[in-house]
Amino acid sequence: MPQLSVIVPLFNERESLPDLVGQLYSAMNEKGLHDLFSEEFSFEIIMVDDGSTDGSNALIRSMIPSKPEVRLISFQRNFGKTAALSAGFLAANGDYVCTIDADLQDDPFAIKGMIKKLQEGYDLVSGWKQQRKDPLSKTLPSKLFNGVTRLFTGITIHDFNCGIKVYRREVTQRLELHGDMHRYIPVLAQWNGFRITELPVKHRARQFGSTKYGSSRFFSGLFDFLSVLFITRYLRRPMHFFGMAGLTSFVLGFVISLYVTLDKILLNKPVSNRPILFLGILLLILGVQLFSTGLLGEMLSTSNSKSSSFTIRETVNLTAGQSKKFGSAE
Ligand code: UDP
Ligand code: MG
Repeated sequence: MPQLSVIVPLFNERESLPDLVGQLYSAMNEKGLHDLFSEEFSFEIIMVDDGSTDGSNALIRSMIPSKPEVRLISFQRNFGKTAALSAGFLAANGDYVCTIDADLQDDPFAIKGMIKKLQEGYDLVSGWKQQRKDPLSKTLPSKLFNGVTRLFTGITIHDFNCGIKVYRREVTQRLELHGDMHRYIPVLAQWNGFRITELPVKHRARQFGSTKYGSSRFFSGLFDFLSVLFITRYLRRPMHFFGMAGLTSFVLGFVISLYVTLDKILLNKPVSNRPILFLGILLLILGVQLFSTGLLGEMLSTSNSKSSSFTIRETVNLTAGQSKKFGSAE
């Protein structure tokens, strides 16, 4: 088993790949890195091709014969970075797991320092693009996103969504990622009880290709933020969320309906032309619905469905154990 699994999610990054793999190998061959391990150092590079259509796939395949550490997992279509990371996490054999973007914006030589930090007793070390080399249209929203996330979660790191991160394997095995939740990995990790920290890393401007995240990321970011808030606060007790709302609505509805009914029985006031009657009925039904939703949520959260969020087209150079996990024969 290798000590380190490097996971590279990639979507149409052909031009960056030769340099990326070259730099990764140089970083992996550094003596300083090997010195961090008592046994002989070995690694694997798991390239997760998230449905590229620019020939990235063929290029990686052509590298594999001369680079036995490179493995390839290809998706049927573009499933998103979160899915690509999940697939990589599932495959990773190393005690330590590292993720790095394919676009050369992250510095592979930062991995060594991050592992050192991990060995100080942390479970997750997240990169911090202290001097970010991106246009204002990216850095500004990202400042806002990081600020809001810090505020709501109380986690004090600066850069939640840095592509380069180093984990102990236990963390990656524990994380269950959906949607675009890779942005909130530190939040989910901390919520699971893991110790997280950050380390400033060098950031580079994008040389080739273009960013895969346009303005749609604002919405998916918002929805995922709500999901993460919900998951970290109420996942194991959805009844606390829906139950309270349901109960309030039901009690209000009940009181109103009782009032209308008593009016009819005691004072013989007509029922049919009173708008408040409809409000009463509405609140009663809403209350029952919210309650049932909470109950369903409870059932879901305990049955813990683990269906995967991607379809594999092919895998190349996986170990037998890894292939088995994906149920694929090479
Ligand atoms: N990526 C991916 N699937 C996607 C979008 C992006 O695997 O659907 C990869 C992409 O190839 C890159 C990394 O995720 O390696 C980060 O993406 P990008 O550089 O576009 O994000 P940015 O740095 O602009 O935030
Ligand atoms: Mg990038």
